[in-house]
Amino acid sequence: MIRSEQKPFEEILGSLEGDESVFILGCGGCAAACGSGGEPEVLDMRARLEGQGKSVSGHAVVDFLCQKALVISRLGARRAELEAADSLLVLTCGVGVQAVAAVVARPVHPGCNTVSLGGAKGEWQGAERCLECGDCLLDATGGLCPLTLCSKGLTNGACGGAKRGMCEVSEHRPCGWELIYKRLASTGRLEKLRTFVPPKAYDRMRPRAEWLATSVWDIEAHAPPADGAERR
Ligand code: SF4
Ligand code: SF4
Repeated sequence: MIRSEQKPFEEILGSLEGDESVFILGCGGCAAACGSGGEPEVLDMRARLEGQGKSVSGHAVVDFLCQKALVISRLGARRAELEAADSLLVLTCGVGVQAVAAVVARPVHPGCNTVSLGGAKGEWQGAERCLECGDCLLDATGGLCPLTLCSKGLTNGACGGAKRGMCEVSEHRPCGWELIYKRLASTGRLEKLRTFVPPKAYDRMRPRAEWLATSVWDIEAHAPPADGAERR
């Protein structure tokens, strides 16, 4: 389970500035379970965007957006609507947004922030990774996560140390920022490189205080009894 929450609507609207038409994509997996990107949320987002005068060329909910083969097979029949859109608004976790960006030749905008549950989140196929930073940057980086693709987690461009496209930290690892540059170039969004990303608020990577207070996190409730008696 990867937990995601919708970004503030104003932020989503701002990310769509300049795009006349958008295709909305939701995820029937974790995002549906979180109430951030299932069918009701996609329909609600469509109504809100149209209420703001945006043209929505279509919408779809794919069972698991983190599964690239599934995304390709489900969106194959929606080609005309996708091609009519300037970009995709994707309502799911950072892994799902990156998977969609990898297989659809359109700019993507993350509609959600991925937030940490502070523990195991299961497994998925594919190379996309998300650190659950709580403030998704994929809008500015062509759908590639700088926190996981750049060895230094740089958020405002390359360090300048790459050689022949490979990271200066490891010659076996592509430079994440070169990948971001190429993706932005291929989708006609190089101006995104001018976006200044303020220093990350890393406290947003901690599980929420209210979740820490649940029975799963209640350390006292799970501690052995002080008198050594067996817990019932
Ligand atoms: S910027 Fe990266 S780590 Fe943060 S939510 Fe997006 S994909 Fe995850
Ligand atoms: S060479 Fe590229 S991936 Fe490596 S640390 Fe520098 S910017 Fe990041």
